[in-house]
Amino acid sequence: MADKKALNVEDAFKKIISHCKEYGFIFPSSEIYDGLSAVYDYGPYGVELKNNIKTYWWKAMVQMHENIVGLDSAIFMHPKVWKASGHVDAFNDPLIDNRDSKRRYRADNLIEDYMVKLDDKANKEVEKAAKRFGDAFDAALYRETNPRVAEILRKRQEISERYQLAMNNNDLVEVKQIIIDLEIADPDTGSKNWTDVRQFNLMFSTQYGALAGENEADNRIYLRPETAQGIFVNFLNVQKSTRQKLPFGIAQIGKAFRNEIVARQFIFRMREFEQMEMQYFIRPGEEKKWYAYWKEARMQWHRTLFPENKVKFHDHEKLAHYADAACDIEFQFPFGFKELEGIHSRTNFDLGSHQELSGKKMQYFDPELDESYVPYVVETSVGVDRMFLATLSYALQDEEVPDAKGGVAVRTVLKIPAILAPIKAAILPLVAKDELTEKARHLFHQLKLVTQCQYDEKDSIGRRYRRQDAIGTPYCITVDFETLEDECVTIRDRDSLAQVRLPIAEVANYLNKHISFSTLLG
Ligand code: ATP
Repeated sequence: MADKKALNVEDAFKKIISHCKEYGFIFPSSEIYDGLSAVYDYGPYGVELKNNIKTYWWKAMVQMHENIVGLDSAIFMHPKVWKASGHVDAFNDPLIDNRDSKRRYRADNLIEDYMVKLDDKANKEVEKAAKRFGDAFDAALYRETNPRVAEILRKRQEISERYQLAMNNNDLVEVKQIIIDLEIADPDTGSKNWTDVRQFNLMFSTQYGALAGENEADNRIYLRPETAQGIFVNFLNVQKSTRQKLPFGIAQIGKAFRNEIVARQFIFRMREFEQMEMQYFIRPGEEKKWYAYWKEARMQWHRTLFPENKVKFHDHEKLAHYADAACDIEFQFPFGFKELEGIHSRTNFDLGSHQELSGKKMQYFDPELDESYVPYVVETSVGVDRMFLATLSYALQDEEVPDAKGGVAVRTVLKIPAILAPIKAAILPLVAKDELTEKARHLFHQLKLVTQCQYDEKDSIGRRYRRQDAIGTPYCITVDFETLEDECVTIRDRDSLAQVRLPIAEVANYLNKHISFSTLLG
């Protein structure tokens, strides 16, 4: 049974990957040279979907908030930025190798996965009891009083405390000991033959300028591992030029680079990826309030796209060097609930460190308090690529639909919200006859001024519908022989398969109404 489940998970994930390749969403980078691990290229439909995700985030953050403004800072930054931010000294992951399988893992992930398994075990016990006892069941009480559940939770708490202590003390010998004591095995092979745990810095470095090779240490610069630092070092430029008062936010979308230890999960963990980050600058002392506010606001945003049971919060076991509170919003990917977005209360760590190392004041004068201070910051940070994978894994479905002969057929359909769809409308002449193709092309040229459209006359109409379903096109507009008489077309809805007949003159309005951002953000 367990094997069958594992196989299904793997199959579901493989299906997403092959769909992405077949339909031009995502290709492995440099594929003709067998690819470059953990790097991917976005194809014609992929780039459209990715841009739409970014626009949807940008609108929700910048357009919808008077006090959030945008920024596009450079990838290359002065090397001191990464010294001040703590990344040179502390942006490490603990790495462990399995001697038998020669596979490399993150030691922290092995332990955290073990704890998730204990949580699942306890939750299953509680669910079983809830079914047994019906309405009167008190889950919280059961967790405390049922000896089996209490024992699992006690063990989990003990591991969590031991793990946090080891990570906070940077005690790698203890991290390995936890893995040994818990008898954690290589998830792929079951071997427990582990090496010692080592720290591995995730930043990529390169040589900058003409002196490369001559004085390497002096010329080393880094590819940014997060976009946030570009926001911090520009904090005063933005505040002064836009005359913002606290609280206010700066939003940025851009590439980030991390030399990830384990990169086996398609676009979930890449070495070159994109982030959508917002730093919210606040008065010291207000961090708890704004941290709670942004947790909720970001969860609401995800719930406009996914059902409630697909996303959940997860508090961090170990806080990053800059944070005093942190949680993830997790999405149920085919391989389980995993981080989609991070929300961090970053204190005044970054601005304070930059002030110290640069010698430049990073302070805000608060006219209401009549004093200057280094602001505190709450950050929201979501990966574009993980949003892409979440959107695709939720939306891609095989579905039974009635076929033309009254039977049942299976169609592959991508049920993404219309505003994210790569192509919003396909204009299809019923058959490739001149009078219809001319009319359809004319409509296509009108509608392409309204939104991203596609004209297609190849193959049967049924096949063309299937092709559009597979790339998630919400509306197929068919021009038939009646159109020539009544100037009306048929609009087919991707999800319900319902068809409405509309005058050509009304189609642009119809599309505008259904693909507007206000359908989700209103
Ligand atoms: P993880 O624990 O999965 O390594 P993280 O906690 O290091 O992630 P953050 O530093 O909080 O991640 O980065 C913010 C967001 O950037 C993440 O929530 C994720 O969506 C995205 N992200 C981080 N690393 C990667 C990566 N290697 N590939 C794709 N997206 C990433």
